[in-house]
Amino acid sequence: MNLPTNVDPREIEKFDRVARLWWDPAGKMGMLHVINPLRTRFVTDRADLRDAKTVDIGCGGGIFAEALARAGARVVGIDQSPFTLEIARQHAAQSGLAIDYRLQTVEELAAREAGRYDVVTCMEMLEHVPDPAAVVDACARLLKPGGRAFFSTIDRSLKAWLFAIVGGEYVLRILPRGTHQYARLIRPAELRGWAARSGLDYIGVASLMYNPLGRRFRVADGREDVNYMASFVRQG
Ligand code: SAH
Repeated sequence: MNLPTNVDPREIEKFDRVARLWWDPAGKMGMLHVINPLRTRFVTDRADLRDAKTVDIGCGGGIFAEALARAGARVVGIDQSPFTLEIARQHAAQSGLAIDYRLQTVEELAAREAGRYDVVTCMEMLEHVPDPAAVVDACARLLKPGGRAFFSTIDRSLKAWLFAIVGGEYVLRILPRGTHQYARLIRPAELRGWAARSGLDYIGVASLMYNPLGRRFRVADGREDVNYMASFVRQG
């Protein structure tokens, strides 16, 4: 397969392989279902999604994209994993949701539809691409002035290595092994710096704090921890 440059083929193969697991809450992608209501609320508390033209970058099987659609957004979802997109399309059809899923990179989409979106979301995706700053920049270009961008990713810190990689993949085994490479993780200050250079003003951050007893997360507003979410507004 001929992939665009800012796509890591090993990452895409990994997601292709687990594509049938996206909608199994008890399976290896189950954590995404656990955190989904919390990250959805992070967005709905900070952006009016009713009829908002929204794009979800690296949408996977559509767990987050469907939540955005249910909150009233008009949703486009893009990903580079063909099997994953097939699952996403089937699931949206079963759910009766009109989500426009496309095999496209964010850079390609930004070249065609710059300035057209009210909301851009990019959850748990930046840590899987060779050049995350370019993804952030393309996200910024997609937005109308005043549009909102939301990113979630994992910090590159000793604590994140211990909790997200060692703890998550090897001890608790709540994530498939090899999901995250330490060097690809992203410090909050790096994300803020890329966003600022791309014309995105920082609004705020929150973290998903995991409690292994009960497999629960809670949101710590204003905190930069292992699993963090940040929001921005497009200048102008
Ligand atoms: N955002 C979804 C899925 C996160 S998993 C959620 O949070 O529920 C990361 C997703 O990013 C996978 O579906 C993978 O195929 C996709 N991905 C990885 N590199 C990509 C790229 N360069 N462009 C688009 N999607 C990419």
